[in-house]
Amino acid sequence: MLNVQRAIGLKQCLRATQRLYHSDVRVRFAPSPTGYLHLGGLRTALYNYLFARHSGGKFLLRIEDTDQTRLVPGATERLIEDLLWAGIEIDEGPGFAGDYGPYIQSQRQELYSDAVERLLQNGSAYRCFCTERRLELLRKEALRTRQVPRYDNKCRHLTKAQLEPLLAKGTPHCIRFKLTEHEEPLQDLIYGSVQHNVSDTEGDPVIMKSDQFPTYHLANVVDDHHMDITHVLRGVEWQISTTKHLLLYKAFGWRPPQFGHLPLLVNADGTKLSKRQGDIGIQQFRERGYFPTALMNYIISAGGGFEHRPNEKPQLLSLDELAQEFRIERVNAHPSRLNSELLNDYNQLEIKRRLSGEQTRPELVKLVQQLVKQAYPSHSNLDLAESHILDVLNWAAQRLQLIQDLTSSKLSFLWVKPTEYELKDLTPAQLQQLIPQLTVLPKLEKDSLNEMLKNYAEKQQIKFPLLMKTLRAALSGLKEGPGVAEMMEILGKSVVLERLEEAIKKQSIVESTRKRQL
Ligand code: GLU
Repeated sequence: MLNVQRAIGLKQCLRATQRLYHSDVRVRFAPSPTGYLHLGGLRTALYNYLFARHSGGKFLLRIEDTDQTRLVPGATERLIEDLLWAGIEIDEGPGFAGDYGPYIQSQRQELYSDAVERLLQNGSAYRCFCTERRLELLRKEALRTRQVPRYDNKCRHLTKAQLEPLLAKGTPHCIRFKLTEHEEPLQDLIYGSVQHNVSDTEGDPVIMKSDQFPTYHLANVVDDHHMDITHVLRGVEWQISTTKHLLLYKAFGWRPPQFGHLPLLVNADGTKLSKRQGDIGIQQFRERGYFPTALMNYIISAGGGFEHRPNEKPQLLSLDELAQEFRIERVNAHPSRLNSELLNDYNQLEIKRRLSGEQTRPELVKLVQQLVKQAYPSHSNLDLAESHILDVLNWAAQRLQLIQDLTSSKLSFLWVKPTEYELKDLTPAQLQQLIPQLTVLPKLEKDSLNEMLKNYAEKQQIKFPLLMKTLRAALSGLKEGPGVAEMMEILGKSVVLERLEEAIKKQSIVESTRKRQL
């Protein structure tokens, strides 16, 4: 249970309902806490959020936990954390403001019982006493005759005389909703007119189980109504349910919200996204080092909703900019293809953006410091000066897709200062003479460095490979790694000079100790 949950009574919720204000857009994200947030869920939340922000409306979070058997402990807290990480602000929800709470369905039972009572009384619902065994036999029979299993609506026809003794005995039963013909098609904000006569294909659905818990259909409709939801944007997998929901609205005599169904989210080649949490879980994207803005732009790049600008380079927009540009009528009805390469492009753009911002730059430096410390926990001699990190980031901004890549073992020399050297091929004096030559260079740049080092080796009559080997050791303490000139370019002038001077100092000490011992 959420510790932050505010206990707002149902009475308050009903009072709020009376203050109907239908011109105000109110949308909701209504996840079931049966797992962690993944790309599909985030897409739904994001589109609702953009829609709300575009129209100056409210974005609500409602937790749909009526199926108590599938709850995952801690899922709600993590969901909220992931949404906030993504930059989605929750105007109303559990632990947030709002006059329409509680925002957790398991705390709204009274509303559902009242609603069911109303449907029973106006003849739109009925009690069903069919046993699990009977339902199972129906299912088996349908499968045997190659038909789609459906409830045969038997209990719809129970007479008062049949019902009374059953009720008197306290026979367990559920409540079913009488499906009727749809008079009008669903006007989907994204798919247009959708005609689906649910009563042709399905038996009457259960709206309240024998344990008195409502099913998704009932709770969802009752809450959308009482929370004054004006627009429902959800995945297309719910479109068939919507046809049922419209019948429920009719039975209650309530005005339904407008519905828009978001197309299926698929891979670039049109195949289904993997169900594995590791591939699509938001937590995993976070851990891999993607920034929220990059992930958001990636999602909308697949889903439409924005002006189509063919052949334009990916452009990174903030959530506010996205909200301004978003138009529900621009969301297309064909499957939304995710192009995973774009995610890296967006992340690179975000790294550049953070690096150029006065406020974001220091945060980026801190992040690098933290990641390097995590990657090299046993090293006490890490080079984590702000100026060094900024040099590295400026060098890396054109190449780097994830900040985490900076901590890869290939680049360890960036952070781990050398302690052990093998510099015996050159004298400290020979190294020392290199310092003024490097100092006058405005910037260390790979190609010109190579030229300069070659000339230096010639003049000093040192074999070029020996010079490179010694420099590599002085700068990184390593025997292998990227080319020495490249390494110097990445490290930047001040760190190169610092490390060379340090190496010379240590080398001189070694030499003088050796001479003394001779
Ligand atoms: N609880 C449903 C889900 O888990 C909500 C569907 C809807 O938005 O109505 O996705």
